[in-house]
Amino acid sequence: MNLFNVYPLYDVTPQRAQDVYVYDENEVKYLDLYGGHAVISIGHSHPHFVKKIREQLERIAFYSNAIQNPLQNKLAASIAEQSCLHNYELFLCSTGAEAIENALKLSSFHTGRKKVIAFHGAFHGRTSAAVSVTDNAAINAPLNLQHQVTFLPFNDIEALEKELATESYCSVIFETIQGVGGLDQPSEEFVIAMESLCKKYGSCLIADEVQSGFGRTGTFFAYQNHPITPHIITMAKGMGNGFPIGGILIHPDIKAKYGMLGTTFGGNHLACSASLAVLDVLKKDRLQEKTKTLERYFRDQAAEIPEVKKVKGSGLMLGLEFDFEIGSLRKSLIYDHHIFTGGSSNKKLIRILPPLTIEEKHFDHFFSALKIALKNI
Ligand code: PLP
Repeated sequence: MNLFNVYPLYDVTPQRAQDVYVYDENEVKYLDLYGGHAVISIGHSHPHFVKKIREQLERIAFYSNAIQNPLQNKLAASIAEQSCLHNYELFLCSTGAEAIENALKLSSFHTGRKKVIAFHGAFHGRTSAAVSVTDNAAINAPLNLQHQVTFLPFNDIEALEKELATESYCSVIFETIQGVGGLDQPSEEFVIAMESLCKKYGSCLIADEVQSGFGRTGTFFAYQNHPITPHIITMAKGMGNGFPIGGILIHPDIKAKYGMLGTTFGGNHLACSASLAVLDVLKKDRLQEKTKTLERYFRDQAAEIPEVKKVKGSGLMLGLEFDFEIGSLRKSLIYDHHIFTGGSSNKKLIRILPPLTIEEKHFDHFFSALKIALKNI
């Protein structure tokens, strides 16, 4: 049977991985500055992560949400402690898009409304409502167009107020740092305005932290650099370090009802153990705090490369912008220098989303390789 051919693939076949390195079938070692798309947070196959999952697997791997699962409560407590969001409630699912679906649906239940405001350049996933709030017509099927979504530019407070004043929107959904879109960010003034206008006109504010959350940008969630209180926060990716888990944090203004949300796999024993292990390591190794020092180091190194026109992003969600398309540069980095990097819908931007265990010496290696690759492409 053939695989449904939807992914343009690099010709690399990872067989094993350890911390910031991935090894192919010939034991060729690749430096992973992509983290499997911001997923690897505490490093590949971290010993504590492996131990916790293995121990859990030997006890009980899965049961549905029809029984008590104290691991979910433990996970909620740990997220509350590290995010300082003690009064929010947790609902667990398995992917980023599922977190978005649940966030949008909950905002609709809560407000009784069905329109959504999203932003130019947004990426929120591939499922029904998630893809409809994603600013990419090519990945929206006719079926997805049933959702009523208004796309606005970041930083246009007047346009936002004009829409919200119609009191027909259940939510405004935004990424504090756009991932797939190419690391653009709304201004602080706009973020604050989003919060106050949502309150004024009875809409929910959803912070999509699927990519930027779990310590990647120096605060537990990227929006926490701004003085706002979203109604719903979505998370996934780094939450499980490769084990599929997602979730939403829900402000206490939104009340739960039996049956409102649900899932078979979400919050299962293995997934909770994986995420608890991630949080243990994040805390013990102070990985979130270290991202800011690493960002400074990265920016200093990048400043020495004249071809780099701009450094975008925050913490370890970073991008290098050039004045040419970077497809062949990324190919050279992967095939000639054995370094994984990421792309985005901005074709001139290389994205750097490494495990949070990355060190300065790895960036030194990357920048030396980049200088050579830039000469040779
Ligand atoms: N939201 C953001 C900001 C993302 O970057 C992504 C995936 O890249 C998603 C949602 C969807 O997550 P998933 O691919 O796990 O469904």
